[in-house]
Amino acid sequence: MENVQQAKIVWTGDDWELHFVCKVEIDVDEAPGEKTVGVDLGINNFAALAYEDGHSELYPLNCLKQDDYYFSKRIALCDDSNSDQATGLNQKKSARRTHYFHTLSKRIAQRCVDEEVGTIVVGDLSGIREDEENAESKDWGIHGNLDLHSWAFDRFTDLLEYKAEMEGITVEQVSERDTSKSCSCRGRKRDATRVERGLYVCDECETVANADVNGAENIRQKVSPSPATDGGDRSNGWLAQPSTFLFDKETGAFVPQEQVTS
Ligand SMILES: [Zn+2]
Repeated sequence: MENVQQAKIVWTGDDWELHFVCKVEIDVDEAPGEKTVGVDLGINNFAALAYEDGHSELYPLNCLKQDDYYFSKRIALCDDSNSDQATGLNQKKSARRTHYFHTLSKRIAQRCVDEEVGTIVVGDLSGIREDEENAESKDWGIHGNLDLHSWAFDRFTDLLEYKAEMEGITVEQVSERDTSKSCSCRGRKRDATRVERGLYVCDECETVANADVNGAENIRQKVSPSPATDGGDRSNGWLAQPSTFLFDKETGAFVPQEQVTS
């Protein structure tokens, strides 16, 4: 009984009950490993992941965009934006988002367990909001009809932290400064990067990389500085060919998108 901090007798109306307040330690799992993963959060790919041993994953926002479009159209058709109908639609839209954030954060935590990751490195977006120059490169809310504001990223990061912690995984936030502007080969920082259709080409090492994966790898390197090389070879294309997972609204799970090669 050494954990009991307080005991009191409570009359419930029928009986006397003895209530104890105890101190309980919650078991948190041990870290699944010592590897790191970098996570770049953004508006097109909500999350891009770069794993230490050289593979990468993308989680596009397409489903949220479709949802937003659908709900925004229906809300616009309501006579009164304060009506029960409009309020109900807004609540549904927000519930769908929350569900997506929960599912994705859980999925990432589970992937880290599979990949023996002990530290998730996430770009801290608060620095970017204060930095006008970088703010433009992130295109907050400008893309399409998705009104996804920076608070959504903070909320997602909180959820990820919570779910990772349950698995014994640490989440570290680092400044995103320059992570989208330089190649993860750690070459010179260029003023202008060549980005076409989401692909980034380094002027120095000629590596072709998905721009978001390159950003995620730069974020990862802020905590674990040795470049992920997938067995010492940067040219095998892992930076350019991430696995893409789409959210399936029917099953509420992430499914791999068929790799389309042209
Ligand atoms: Zn390079």
